[in-house]
Order: sequence, then C-alpha cells, then structure tokens
Amino acid sequence: MSKLAISGGTKAVKDGGIKAWPPIDDIDREMVMASLNGGSHAFGPNCAAFQTEYAAWNGNKYAITTNSGTAALHMGLVACGVGAGDHVLVTAYSWSSSATCILHHNAIPVFVDIDFDTINMDVNKIEAAITPKTKAIIVVHLHGLMVDMDKVLAIARKHNLKVIEDACQAHGALFHNRKAGTFGDCAAFSFNQNKCLCSGEGGMFVTNDEKIRDLAAQVWSFGETRTPLESRDYHAYALGWMYRNNDLTAAFGRAQLTKMDKYFKIQRENGALLNKRLTGLKGLILPYEPEGHAHNWYNYTSRIDMDAIGWKGDPAAMRNAIMNALRAEGVPVGVWQSFILPDMTVFKAKNAYGKGCPWSCNGAGDGVVYDPTQYPAANRHCATHFGMTTPLRAPNGAEAVEMVAEGFQKVFSSIDQLNPDEILK
Ligand SMILES: *Cc1c(COP(=O)(O)O)cnc(C)c1O
Repeated sequence: MSKLAISGGTKAVKDGGIKAWPPIDDIDREMVMASLNGGSHAFGPNCAAFQTEYAAWNGNKYAITTNSGTAALHMGLVACGVGAGDHVLVTAYSWSSSATCILHHNAIPVFVDIDFDTINMDVNKIEAAITPKTKAIIVVHLHGLMVDMDKVLAIARKHNLKVIEDACQAHGALFHNRKAGTFGDCAAFSFNQNKCLCSGEGGMFVTNDEKIRDLAAQVWSFGETRTPLESRDYHAYALGWMYRNNDLTAAFGRAQLTKMDKYFKIQRENGALLNKRLTGLKGLILPYEPEGHAHNWYNYTSRIDMDAIGWKGDPAAMRNAIMNALRAEGVPVGVWQSFILPDMTVFKAKNAYGKGCPWSCNGAGDGVVYDPTQYPAANRHCATHFGMTTPLRAPNGAEAVEMVAEGFQKVFSSIDQLNPDEILK
C-alpha cells in the first residue's frame, strides 16, 4: 500500500474527482426560469403540481408541500391528534427536529434507544417506553434505511398509537418493496440541499387519510380551511402556522423529481460497489441492510470497531484521527450528529418554552427523565461513526467510488500507524 496522504503520500481521490450534489441541468434551469417569468411566486401552480406529482411518485393519496421537513413533521403530529401533555416516542439518535417538533405542540418526547446495527429506533424497546399518555410514535428512517414497519405497526395497533414517519432522509427507500412514507398515518419529507431530493429548502407532507390531510392543511396555512389557490375566508379555524412552500422552490423540486429514479439507481449501484470494495477491512463496520430493506444510501455511515483495532483509549479521538486520515486522502467524511438527542440542552435543561413548559404543565412531564447514559447503543454509535454523502450521489459513479474505496483501503490497512495524539494536536 502506498504512503498515507496524511504522512505526505499521494491522495487517493484526485482533486475535483468528486462532483457536487445535486446535478443541475437544463430541466432545472427551464422550470425555475418559467416560474420566475410567471406571475405567481408565493404558493402557485408549481406548488400544486409538485404535490400531485410527488404523491403519485411516492404512492400517496394526498401531499402538501411545505417550507421544510420540520414543518411537515409538526403538521403530522397535530393532524394525528397529538396535543398538550401527550407523550410521543422517538428515537434517541436523529436530527434535532425529529424530537423538537413534538415540543412545538406542547407534547413530551420520550426517547427509545437505537438498535446499533440499523442505527434506527430499536423496535424491541418501544413497548417498554409506552406510558398511559403515549399517543404516537415518530419513526425516523435514518440515513435512508427504513425501520421495520411490520413491527412498528403491530405495536401501534396493539396500543392504539398513531405512526408518523420521519422520511426526511428516506426518499425512495423501500421496505418489502414499498416506499417510505406509505406505511404510517402520515409522513414528512425534506428537500433541503443535502437530501436525496434537493430544492434548496422545502418539504412535503403525505398521507392517505383525508381527515389527516385536512387537519394538516390547517396547521400549514394560518388555521384556514382553504388553500391559497381556492377562495379563502381568511378565518383561523384552529391554531395555524405559515408552513407553505413557494413557487420557485417547488419548480426546482419538480425538476429534480423528474430525475429521482435515475438518481436512486445510481445511489444503489454506488452503495453496492462501495460495500463490495470495503468488505473485510479490519476495524470497519459497514452499513447494514437487513433482508427486505432497500437502502437509498442517503448517508453511507460506517463505525469503527475499537476492539478489532485494539484501541483502548477514547473512541471518539481514534474515530476523529481516522477521519482526518481519510480526509487527507480526499475522502469527504464527517460526523453527522455528535450528540444523541437526550444529550441536547433543550431536553436536558427542559428549557423549551421557559417556565418549565411543556413538562411542568399539568404534570405532563412527570416521570420523564432525560438521562443520556440510558441509551448505550446510541452513545456507542455516536462516538464511533462517521458518514459520507456526495461520493455516492449522482453525477458520481464507479470512478469516484473506486477512488474513495482506495482511500479507505489505505487508511484501514495502516491503522496501527495512526496516533490520535499526533494527528489531533
Ligand atoms: C433534515 C431532517 C429533518 C428536517 O428537515 P428540514 O427540511 O431541514 O426541516 C428532520 N428529520 C431528519 C431525520 C432530517 O434528516
């Protein structure tokens, strides 16, 4: 093996070898320019068309386009009847808003540890976390791998709970050949820059239930019952926010949607090739794709097996040293979230609305303790993981994947030469 780049050797990934996400072509330019040249820049015709097209693409009856995935999550909770003081189960490791969306409606997040192998909520720990106040489960299909929805739905039926899918990273991911966002009572997608469908920012709420759609639409647009494309009475029938998408963003999203199936195929091929090249590297735990699941490779997340490499010190220090060595090779790796959710200040300090709310209101949070040490699998993941997104996304293909794989091979075959004290000083 050639000399590591971090020790002065040649980089495995040549400069410019990895192209940025998302690819922009004439379809994007034409559709965004047509919106710009049109007369409707707020919630306009591209928004309505985007909803119809996304619902058709994903296999849902209804879709409402939003200004973020977080907005769609909040809408879903309200539409499922979650309100002040209700408990909602959510994974201990995710993006902050998978759980803060629960606080948005004065409800109480209750965390469930992850299953280390899948990085998703441990479905075998859900039932133990249910309280008499539990109303719903937010399942997050993290990094593009779906949660086992057979198990989740069986528990939800048994305990009469609603299920909201946080599919913000899971566009096109499959469980038993069905797409994310078609299993729960409703689901949220994000179209933020880094997601598998990028419209800059933006999101989509989806459901097959007309009542849930109507309730979500109230939250979405000032508590009104009509959309801006209908004749409105401007009356707030319930508490509403302003979560609508705008026409330019929706035009960009529509343009990208025409290419999604092509992108998804590329991601699957790139993920499979990288798996093949990295299999057997000592100390590297590759992402796991259980039987019946199809990953969308939103984020290719690996973990370091500290025992296998004989490292007895701080796992995060060794992980960071390995990441620095990979980055020196030109491999764009990063820590996705370095805190588990129960370790975030908003939960530990219970400082959401001030004055102890919502936990202190009518005893809503009695018995709910946020102790970060109670989530050993999430903590182990947090300290040992690193992820990678762009090399697996279009327009990158086998050539980029092979370079990245060489970077991994170089670093992991020389791992005993890495000294965190040296590298991180
Ligand atoms: C990105 C993301 C969100 C939030 O989406 P925004 O569009 O940024 O609001 C929620 N949950 C998960 C898992 C995400 O990755």
